[in-house]
Amino acid sequence: MNSTDLSQQLFDRASSVVPGGVNSPVRAFRAVGGTPRFMASAQGPYLTDVDGNTYVDLICSWGPMILGHAHPSVVTAVQEAAARGTSYGTPTLGEVELAEEIVARTPVQQVRLVSSGTEATMSAIRLARGFTGRSKIVKFAGCYHGHVDSLLAAAGSGVVTLGLPDTPGVTGATTADTLVLPYNDPAAVTAAFAAHGDEIACVITEACPSNMGVVPPAPGFNALLKSLTERHGALLIIDEVLTGFRVTRSGWFGYEGVAADLMTFGKVMGGGLPAAAFGGRADIMAHLAPAGPVYQAGTLSGNPLATAAGLATLRGCTDEVYAAVDHAASAVARLATEALTKEGVPHRLQKAGNLFSVFFTDSEVPDFEAAQKQNSTAYAAFFHAALDHGVYLPPSAYEVWFLSAAHDDRALDQIAEALPHAARAAAHA
Ligand SMILES: *Cc1c(COP(=O)(O)O)cnc(C)c1O
Repeated sequence: MNSTDLSQQLFDRASSVVPGGVNSPVRAFRAVGGTPRFMASAQGPYLTDVDGNTYVDLICSWGPMILGHAHPSVVTAVQEAAARGTSYGTPTLGEVELAEEIVARTPVQQVRLVSSGTEATMSAIRLARGFTGRSKIVKFAGCYHGHVDSLLAAAGSGVVTLGLPDTPGVTGATTADTLVLPYNDPAAVTAAFAAHGDEIACVITEACPSNMGVVPPAPGFNALLKSLTERHGALLIIDEVLTGFRVTRSGWFGYEGVAADLMTFGKVMGGGLPAAAFGGRADIMAHLAPAGPVYQAGTLSGNPLATAAGLATLRGCTDEVYAAVDHAASAVARLATEALTKEGVPHRLQKAGNLFSVFFTDSEVPDFEAAQKQNSTAYAAFFHAALDHGVYLPPSAYEVWFLSAAHDDRALDQIAEALPHAARAAAHA
């Protein structure tokens, strides 16, 4: 058992000045119990907490750290940018280069840089409504698009973890125009368009849902969304904040090739700094201020440090990096399956490219309703035993296990050593 005294002291201090002691809910460990670890540093595939415990990191800052922590080229790029000044409130070269890099890797023709994935999806929805002149939006239960008011209807991620069906503070008027449909259900989408086709501004979907655990789109589902929106004069927004530049050099688009009208990006493209983007067809993006009438702005949008980190990360994302992430993900997925099978723990590992998650259930998980049937008590035991053996898993059963190109054989060996202990704990939970 590791000492967690200093983390506990910091958590106590934090709890008096920060609600719940954290700045994003899942960090508080409420779904798994125990003391959240306060990190002091990170290097490659490792995190080190304030008590000096080191963990193999399987969250990678929830996706961005695809090259591993403190990668020399990213650190140097940020240091050099900081020495030139941290923000100007004017356009810069870095923004142009980052936009060009995104346009070169994805089907979008133009992008607008923002500071978080939430801002990206919020702005994409405003643009879709402004462009179409329609009000209604369609989202899927269990898909998470950040904490945008109109999308916090049966959302996944942190909201699931806390077991809230919805959140106080979002008015009924705000969600009245949001149609929430079950995921992977073609009949439900077809019916929604049959009933409301000429009122729907857009459908927003995760490219490959990964915030209720990994729930891959059934073959043809994203293509159906594309054809239905097109037929009814609505827009398709594919949210690649999590998958973009992580599963392939473009993102999920690299697997399926379904080009949305608008797309959203974040996480990897910021390299661990606050940068995100939304983009799409040039004729739609032309409706955005100052080119068009739909207002959107940001004091720190395209921040020079963030664009430097993002560019260094994307430029570092070579074919070899994707091969290394794929290899590490396959290895960890196999180790988890072996350990849980050996202990007879009911589980289902769902994998899509280098994204995977483990559901503590033995039935298939095609949607959010099925995801919620898993045994979260078993997951909590699994999580804590892994943590005690030096592996930092997501502190919620609804999250992807993230790998990086820095997860080398030594890190994989440590995971191989820890997972049998975790599986045994889950078996006895
Ligand atoms: C993380 C995430 C967001 C929100 O991004 P933030 O930067 O946390 O606001 C939106 N959509 C998806 C699919 C995500 O995974």
